[in-house]
Amino acid sequence: MNDTVPAKVLLSAGVQARIDGQELASRLRKETTGEVLFDRASRGRYATDASIYQIEPIGVFVPRLEEDVAIALELARGARVPVLARGAGTSQCGQTVGAALVLDNSKYLNGIIAFDKEAMTVTVQPGIVLDHLNAWLKPHGLWFPVDVSTAAQCTLGGMAGNNSCGSRSLYYGNMVHNVLGIDAWLADGVCASFGPLETMRAGAAPRVRALIDTVAAVAAREHEEIAARYPKVLRRVGGYNLDIFNPQSERPYTLDGSVNLAHLLVGSEGTLAYSRRLTLKLAPLPKAKSLGIVNFTNFSKAMDSTQHIVKLGPVAVELVDRTMIELALSNPAFRPTVEKALIGKPDAILLVEFAGLDKAEQDRKLKDLSALMGDLGLPGSVVEMANEAEQKALWEVRKAGLNIMMSLKGDGKPVSFIEDCAVPLEHLAEYTDRLTEVFAKHGTRGTWYAHASVGTLHVRPILDLRRDGSAKMRAIAEEAASLVRQYKGAFSGEHGDGLVRSEWVDWQFGQRMMGAFCEIKDAFDPDGLMNPGKIVRATKMDDRSLYRFKPGYAEQPLRTSLDWSAWNVQADPVTEAVGAPGTGGDASGGFAKAIEMCNNNGHCRKFDSGTMCPSYRVTKDEQHLTRGRANTLRLAVSGQLGPDALTSDAVAESMDLCVGCKGCKRDCPTGIDMARMKTEFLYHYRKRHGLTLKDRLVANLPRYAPWAARLAPLMNLRDRLPGAAALSEKWLGLSAKRSLPRWRSDTFLSSAPASTHVAAGAPEVVLFADTFNNYFESDNARAAFRVLQAAGYHVHVARAPDEPRPLCCGRTYLAAGQVDEARQEARRTIDALLPYVARGVPVVGLEPSCLLTMRDEFLAYGFGEEARRLAESAMLFEEFIAREAKAGRLNLKLKALPQSTALLHGHCHQKAFDAVKPVEQVLGLIPGLAVKLIESSCCGMAGSFGYEARHYEVSMKMGELSLLPAVRQAGPDTLIVADGTSCRHQIADGAQREAVHVARVLEAALA
Ligand SMILES: Cc1cc2nc3c(=O)[nH]c(=O)nc-3n(C[C@H](O)[C@H](O)[C@H](O)COP(=O)(O)OP(=O)(O)OC[C@H]3O[C@@H](n4cnc5c(N)ncnc54)[C@H](O)[C@@H]3O)c2cc1C
Ligand code: SF4
Ligand code: SF4
Repeated sequence: MNDTVPAKVLLSAGVQARIDGQELASRLRKETTGEVLFDRASRGRYATDASIYQIEPIGVFVPRLEEDVAIALELARGARVPVLARGAGTSQCGQTVGAALVLDNSKYLNGIIAFDKEAMTVTVQPGIVLDHLNAWLKPHGLWFPVDVSTAAQCTLGGMAGNNSCGSRSLYYGNMVHNVLGIDAWLADGVCASFGPLETMRAGAAPRVRALIDTVAAVAAREHEEIAARYPKVLRRVGGYNLDIFNPQSERPYTLDGSVNLAHLLVGSEGTLAYSRRLTLKLAPLPKAKSLGIVNFTNFSKAMDSTQHIVKLGPVAVELVDRTMIELALSNPAFRPTVEKALIGKPDAILLVEFAGLDKAEQDRKLKDLSALMGDLGLPGSVVEMANEAEQKALWEVRKAGLNIMMSLKGDGKPVSFIEDCAVPLEHLAEYTDRLTEVFAKHGTRGTWYAHASVGTLHVRPILDLRRDGSAKMRAIAEEAASLVRQYKGAFSGEHGDGLVRSEWVDWQFGQRMMGAFCEIKDAFDPDGLMNPGKIVRATKMDDRSLYRFKPGYAEQPLRTSLDWSAWNVQADPVTEAVGAPGTGGDASGGFAKAIEMCNNNGHCRKFDSGTMCPSYRVTKDEQHLTRGRANTLRLAVSGQLGPDALTSDAVAESMDLCVGCKGCKRDCPTGIDMARMKTEFLYHYRKRHGLTLKDRLVANLPRYAPWAARLAPLMNLRDRLPGAAALSEKWLGLSAKRSLPRWRSDTFLSSAPASTHVAAGAPEVVLFADTFNNYFESDNARAAFRVLQAAGYHVHVARAPDEPRPLCCGRTYLAAGQVDEARQEARRTIDALLPYVARGVPVVGLEPSCLLTMRDEFLAYGFGEEARRLAESAMLFEEFIAREAKAGRLNLKLKALPQSTALLHGHCHQKAFDAVKPVEQVLGLIPGLAVKLIESSCCGMAGSFGYEARHYEVSMKMGELSLLPAVRQAGPDTLIVADGTSCRHQIADGAQREAVHVARVLEAALA
């Protein structure tokens, strides 16, 4: 990354413009209401999409109003600065990166402008996310059916830009078949409504009329060439849709055969115009669905059968191959779902979905499928899945396919460049066989999956683009292209052209059509300022200077505080066998390679489920998103943000709102663990900048806690003495709006016996009382003790053998980046607990963030086998009780409670470790108690985060996303259950309700 805004910009191959980025930035600040992000780190965060490329933009602008876009386009035009519209930036081909002013529509320009239920149409702004639109439409019984895999984050503007296609395109078509109109700004600032040709022509301004005439004339002139050159398949998204005048797609663009000029903008990747509003055709939500899973013992047979299956009229036929099946089976979350779909050990499965208004009809089609497979020589090969919840779960596994593959460690990655070639179904079997041979010839392999119904199978050969991968990429692309030509298919069948495939537009459509495309481009954008270098006048796909990992890219040497060696590996592209930890050649010991796992797919931008990423959910800023953080870190550790960038303010700002919830550790497809990365960052940052008084106060809490507890009345004065809270805000930065946890002098450990007295031979358990449940909420520890005792366990209480100070997991030190101190605490804890572990005694704890540290960070301190053994024995109280109950060993008599419902909020770390279900199971043991889980992300308190004055607002906003409203809605007779100390405080502060630990609920229910 350059220190200053670049002065020269490549507009398209060979053409350069001089620009003054600083002046542009200052005018944008003065003349618009949008956010102007021209600093180095922000530009770095917008330099990548989900492709292999990285190009530094001139600046980033986040328009608040439509007028802001108009002004920005005008200013950019005046400065001869290219413009690049952006939605979620999930494109795989590099069409969303460029040396341009990037305009991010996703934060503010995401409204629904008009809706006509009868006509089944909606008009939206370009930044609206597909899932959000569909959630809004659901109560009306409608949806927008272009169901791309990235539905949770991709925007309608981006979908139109790419002519995106969903799994059910066989039935609903691609984006181009579902867009009715686009209001767009042209390069010269004119705003035009693109729609049916005749209507448009009638009301058009002279400039627009001239444009229409040019387009129509070029299309008429090229009538024959279009017929000769355009692939006759549904899935063709390369080049411009000049065939709207002479349709070549298997599916007509319009129902009445008329020309709609909005369709020319669809798939144009922002190179012709800037979409302001899109009018979309909606479809009724299917009322009934049935799913048949056809099991094949031979991959080719699956490919060959597809052409026959589509004749039954399914809405989708999707492939999952053996590798993907095995990857899914090895994932505990997916295994039970996948097992239900399998008959024996198939080589491939096809998911065949029928959908419509009538359930009986869909079920009949499912029977037809079984009969067809019998006719094709595969009787008994279909699993009929009627249950919609099971169907949905299986679709989730299919959608997760690519992401599962992307978790491969090392520099070799599955690369997207021929991943969506489309071939006619009759050639699918031969095409896949031959391409597989091509991969083998080049010493790699690919996993096949996705849209069999339309001949668009996804496949990504594993290539190391930092070494020999680039040459292999070109060689494979050339061989794949010749196969595609032989089978009369489309080289670009789903993901667009961008940087990786624009070079192939010429190859696909021929020089004459390429000339026509250039004429279209020039008519719309005479100065070449709209996303230059894409579709026409492209750079080479293997121009390594445009790669994310450019020649000379190197991780900077760094002595890390945590062990990252598991990422410091390389993998074999064919077997995917990973080398020994520490052998990957990363000068930062694996830290950089762990960061580089982020492939920018943007899954962390999802909103509606899971934990990831609360700070993005409340800010909608790329800077406060897992992806934005990973990119900032990657640029810093590879020296692209200047010297000592890891400890710079820019990195600190990006890390600031990360609450360490570990949502990404669980939800990110490639396992980005930003919480751990933040700890590593803080370690270096604090070493350079020192600790604040507040940091010291929080970090050292376990050390001074014994004294504080003795002086509890004095220590608690902060919340009683008038003005004390305000002073604590001024001096320590602790929000005066918060009450602090109250010290107790009757701590658990001060009165707990060393162990219980029970019958000889009783099963043993050791209870770990963390700092919070010992000093602040000792009733929880006492409750757990009583419950375990009542269930007949021989309960030991964990203590340090040689010193009075209680054991500690070290989390408060981690929060301040004091990894060495945290390591010391871990050492004490391991030493004290190992004798129990050696005897097979489970270690049971109460506070998720403390206990689960033993299963997470303890493994990164370099303690090897000892830490691993403790991790295997450490479990949360509810995990232990649920395990014992499942094994039929739990002897606990429970009675009904006065409350009949428990509303449960899972702590983020419980979610990250799949430990919420056990709480539900344990509460379910109480007679008559119904358990309702709140679909919540982080509560927002996150240790000391929410107590800090500068984070108070964000913290409350996180709570308000779903947790606090759900608690407020609960009746007074509903139990609120939350195992996290900080979650309980957030609930008390934000909803004025007391939440209790599950141990206390069980204690109250003891018969
Ligand atoms: C894991 C994964 C799975 C995917 N699965 C699918 C799939 O199933 N089907 C599919 O089709 N694609 C898929 N994609 C590709 C991508 O997600 C889609 O193309 C998506 O629709 C892009 O939306 P976006 O908001 O991220 O667009 P962006 O990447 O932000 O933009 C896409 C293009 O549109 C242009 N653009 C954006 N807004 C405007 C505007 N207002 N005016 C003019 N031009 C604009 C941009 O300049 C760019 O050229 C997948 C990608 C990933 C990483
Ligand atoms: S952090 Fe994870 S989910 Fe987000 S873009 Fe990177 S890889 Fe995808
Ligand atoms: S740890 Fe939580 S807040 Fe931080 S990046 Fe991951 S999901 Fe976002």
